[in-house]
Amino acid sequence: MSHTELVEQVHRHTHESMISVEEARERILRCFHVLDVESKPILDADGQTLAEDIVGPFDIPPLDNSAMDGYAVMSEDVRGASDDAPATLRVVGSVAAGQLPQDRVTPGAAVRIMTGAPIPDGADAVVPFEDTDEMARRAVGRTLSEIAVRSEVPPSANVRPAGQDVSAGETVLGRGSVLRAAEIGVLAALGRRSVEVVRRPVAAILATGDELVGVGEELEPGRIYDVNSYSIAVAARRAGAIPRMLGIARDNVEDLNAKLEEGLASDILITSAGVSKGDYDVVKDVLARRGQIGLWSVRMRPAKPLAFGMLDRPGGSPVPHLGLPGNPVSALVGFEQLGRPAILKMLGRTRLARRVVQAVLEEPIHNYDGRRVYARAMVTKKNGAYYARLTGHQSSNILTSMARANGLAICPEDVDVKQAGESVEVQMIDWPEDVF
Ligand code: AMP
Ligand code: MG
Repeated sequence: MSHTELVEQVHRHTHESMISVEEARERILRCFHVLDVESKPILDADGQTLAEDIVGPFDIPPLDNSAMDGYAVMSEDVRGASDDAPATLRVVGSVAAGQLPQDRVTPGAAVRIMTGAPIPDGADAVVPFEDTDEMARRAVGRTLSEIAVRSEVPPSANVRPAGQDVSAGETVLGRGSVLRAAEIGVLAALGRRSVEVVRRPVAAILATGDELVGVGEELEPGRIYDVNSYSIAVAARRAGAIPRMLGIARDNVEDLNAKLEEGLASDILITSAGVSKGDYDVVKDVLARRGQIGLWSVRMRPAKPLAFGMLDRPGGSPVPHLGLPGNPVSALVGFEQLGRPAILKMLGRTRLARRVVQAVLEEPIHNYDGRRVYARAMVTKKNGAYYARLTGHQSSNILTSMARANGLAICPEDVDVKQAGESVEVQMIDWPEDVF
């Protein structure tokens, strides 16, 4: 096919009718799969998906042990004990956490015991220090060869049974669970140094545009700093990917080809700009020559124009390419709807959507052309209900209103206006602790 034919084909696709956000997401997600497994030291596996079932190799706790500092006793020996009628027991030994008991508890005897120490044979309960006269004895310099117990305890009181937390042979963490602090702690309790998890995807990030200047470089008149590389890289990292910054490609075939080459060593290539109908939008033309590309109009505002395709990789499987629009808010909102779920799927997550809250809208959201509007909003909670107010200018180039937002309030495609006071769905992109 000649270059002209390719471009024509691309332009036909450009005029393809609009598809819904769901349709776009489904088409994209079909091209992604859960990634392969890697072994990670447990400290570094935080946030990754478990790729093995974790079976307890032994009981935790390993032995019946004490939940309190106190005295291990036969509960029968202290039945009916009270302040007025304490039960006096011989103290025949003591045991601390990490030791094995050396002494048996026989009728009329007790063993001094610390939290976590194994229960001596013969004992069936622990009396806490507070329910004995130990303090009083110490205060007047009396020995602890005897102890007066001032309250009764039922059998098993303050005894933590062996295997209560984990019993040998039991599956404690299932494949597919996401590792957080507690799960990492469970792995440590089992003595695991490393764990099998789904590898994190590498997301190659490429900005395109002749007008862009890299952060740290001098800003010449008429040019702007590259925003999308940074915002998309961070959004990708927050989704769980490892961003690889490819920098800026100029709007010419040679530069773009060179940068794309670098992007092939990744699990997803995310570009921004060059997918609309502008004169200098070479991204779509170049991509059309390197693999399959679809140029879509997604029924959403912002982020209507979108490119998605599979780039040929010599000697390897094709690399999915997500081409986001150039305006910074469009790029971020497009990534939220279509890029983040792909990354989560590669990570082995099953929940791919953001949390949605139902909020009372505080000002209207207008829908001009039958697209689903994602309006930048700040959600707050008052008297147990959520309220959403818009965060200012909603043009797709106004990034500060995105910076002030914690969610995207949705006006559905078939609704002309969502009025103030109406209930609105808000997709939460952040859940700040200071608000909720
Ligand atoms: P385009 O898709 O190339 O027509 O770009 C749409 C708008 O987004 C233009 O105003 C661009 O200058 C702007 N834009 C594109 N890429 C970036 C970027 N990386 N950072 C900031 N603005 C951008
Ligand atoms: Mg451009």
